Amino acid sequence: MSIVAPRGRKYLSADALFNLVRSGFATIPDYRPSETDISLTDALMSAFAMFSLKSPSLLAFDKERAEGNLHTIYGMERVPCDTRMREILDPVSPKVLRLVFKSVFRQLQRGKALEPMVFLEGYYLLALDGTGYFSSKTIHCASCLQKVHRNGSITYAHQMLGAAIIHPDMRTVIPLMPEPIVKHDGTDKNDCERNAAKRFVTKLRQDHPHLKFIVTEDSLSSNAPHIETLQVHGLHYILGVKEGDHASLFEQVQAAEHAGRVTAYERHDRAAGLVHRFRFVNDVPLNASHADMRVNFMEYWEMSDDKVQHFSWVTDLRVSKRNVFHLMRGGRARWKIENETFNTLKNQGYNFEHNYGHGQQNLSVVFALLMMLAFLVDQTQQLCCAMFQAVWAKLGSKRLLWEWMRALFYDYALESMRQLLEALLYGLKKPPPIVAFDSS
Ligand SMILES: [Zn+2]
Repeated sequence: MSIVAPRGRKYLSADALFNLVRSGFATIPDYRPSETDISLTDALMSAFAMFSLKSPSLLAFDKERAEGNLHTIYGMERVPCDTRMREILDPVSPKVLRLVFKSVFRQLQRGKALEPMVFLEGYYLLALDGTGYFSSKTIHCASCLQKVHRNGSITYAHQMLGAAIIHPDMRTVIPLMPEPIVKHDGTDKNDCERNAAKRFVTKLRQDHPHLKFIVTEDSLSSNAPHIETLQVHGLHYILGVKEGDHASLFEQVQAAEHAGRVTAYERHDRAAGLVHRFRFVNDVPLNASHADMRVNFMEYWEMSDDKVQHFSWVTDLRVSKRNVFHLMRGGRARWKIENETFNTLKNQGYNFEHNYGHGQQNLSVVFALLMMLAFLVDQTQQLCCAMFQAVWAKLGSKRLLWEWMRALFYDYALESMRQLLEALLYGLKKPPPIVAFDSS
């Protein structure tokens, strides 16, 4: 009996995506005038492979075997040692990586892979959030943020504004190119999340002028200048608010309640033992100093026998009994940028906070972006590659999946990632399966 390999879209397989990433790197001009030994493409690809394999060092094991597979699977011509890779990548400007994120995203669009992620009437839910991934008293570089303490000591840090398309019903998230929060050349001033968000939104619209987004963020983002930025760029929003931080808004809601303008709504989910209670009101001022900034407000309690969870948001989408449940699910899905994105990068083998090498200029930022790119490629496979899904299901966890991938990568001569995944699914000694692709 022959085994039929899981079907999948060929150009969204790991091999096709590695090829796409490599061709993207190849279009980035080398900043070195006459380079002879290792190309910039190979240096970028080796860092990408390091994060793709979740391996802190590419040549730590069997050098010959690893080099062979880096050649066949990641398309590298010459493999630099780790030190050389860091030297070449340190001066690289992080912004050159944007086009590679964009080309993977295009491929997802072309394969219609994003369609199941549409949240509401053609709109994607886009979660934005800042995160720190490095902090030190001693190690630092030109782009480190600096905090000077009262005793004169300095803490150096790196942060970024992450962005991902999310959906309340899906575990997969599709990250976009993050916006680094860094100290900029020639300035002493630290960058901040708000400025990073402005830059992010401008570039988002340059890259995707026609895509429809509903942005979701935590309550730090619910301020008039930021909401104006979102509006100027044609972005809808569902943003957290907190009574302590938005006192005037909550007073307005209270006044609206007395005036009979607030709608209450309740839904019972007996199977789950939950009561969903809402109150909402449209068209209230965000705060006293921006009375012309009108928002729609919704508040939500999820009640079970032993627990009550409480959330509140503002949105520019008109809230009604018909859509309030769905909008609430969009607002609550925001945690996926923390849980499914940042925590996955920190705890599921990617070692986001691990010091892969800091560099003097941009290395730390370039590494963080390449790690996010490797995560994007992994998430694309998780969404689209049936072979990847089958191996993941068989092994039961990502951690085991990465461990087995690395074990085979360093032990066997392989032609492709597909061969590696097939070996994990069917075992190495079985006759090769009949491979069936659909032709899309
Ligand atoms: Zn630094």
